[in-house]
Amino acid sequence: MLCAPLVLGLNGLARFSAPGASAPIPTLPVAQLPVAIRAAAHLAEHEDQVRKLWPGFWDTRFTYGVFPVNGGTLVMHPRGERPAGTIPPVDIALPTILKERAAFVPERQGSFFFDFEFRLGSQRIPAFSPHGHYALQRGPSADRRWTADSAASFVLFVLHESFHAHQLKHFAPLPNESSPAANLVPMRPHRGLTEDSLFKAQLARERSLLAAAVEAPDCTAATDPLNRYVEQRKVRLTQLPAPFAAFEDAHERAEGVATWIGLAGVHRIMTGDATGPRRDVLADLREMYRDSSGEPFGDGWTQYVSWHLYATGSAKTEILARCGVSTWRLEISGGRSLQSLLDVLVGRSGGPASEP
Ligand SMILES: [Zn+2]
Repeated sequence: MLCAPLVLGLNGLARFSAPGASAPIPTLPVAQLPVAIRAAAHLAEHEDQVRKLWPGFWDTRFTYGVFPVNGGTLVMHPRGERPAGTIPPVDIALPTILKERAAFVPERQGSFFFDFEFRLGSQRIPAFSPHGHYALQRGPSADRRWTADSAASFVLFVLHESFHAHQLKHFAPLPNESSPAANLVPMRPHRGLTEDSLFKAQLARERSLLAAAVEAPDCTAATDPLNRYVEQRKVRLTQLPAPFAAFEDAHERAEGVATWIGLAGVHRIMTGDATGPRRDVLADLREMYRDSSGEPFGDGWTQYVSWHLYATGSAKTEILARCGVSTWRLEISGGRSLQSLLDVLVGRSGGPASEP
């Protein structure tokens, strides 16, 4: 149930802001607003909550674009600082909270499905499509409320991609960090389908141990499955080229944390679900993402490993959020991998979680 918080309240009802009109301005039910605008209103309304997700994330000067709205692009900006090259969005129905924060570019920017940013003069603006590409990849047991065109799906997407912008700016690199999935190709351990399926079965076992840890009623109960997970992963990695572990660490830290930020943000600001994102973290562990035709993207093997790490990274983040040292976010930003903090958690690492 995408429930009460979705309704912005009577004060937030949209209006057609016809400039100069003296007659009462007609209102639109919030449900009839384009999904991107509903999502932007949620984000604006709950900025304080969003900022609490991660130190330094989503500062008040953050600007981003959403498209397409009325055939163009809506630009969300800090209050009173409309970017050059934009016009006031006078013909667009907006909730009150967005009136001072939205500007309009009459052309649609970026690609239809997926883009990260567009240029406005000399400014590079992160941009997000409301087409819920991300949601389409979620398996059938994932939350059905989050259809591709729901505001929750869009908020999830905006938070995920915005967090990447934060990571690029503020995260110290990991030792031996090598992130692009293409780097995996020369490390492929097998060529045959049978070997691939054995490899995938190993990864599936690891996901199921992490799921048991995420599902555990408390941190003590999580220790046993976590220990077994750490052991399994260690054995698997001994069968792979050394850079494989560095790739896993980097990908989990980039995509896993961003995935968790999206899920945790939606739960925090939209569903008010006290259990947080655990249910969706579990769904991602149990069902690998697919594209809308049900097939893995691109190179099946590379993509399989990549999506596996989205899910395991998100699960490790969830575990650290519940059971990790209080400074876990700073440790991650400062150059620690999720795995190294998990090792500390289960007593596999003697060192304090403080070195960068
Ligand atoms: Zn991502």
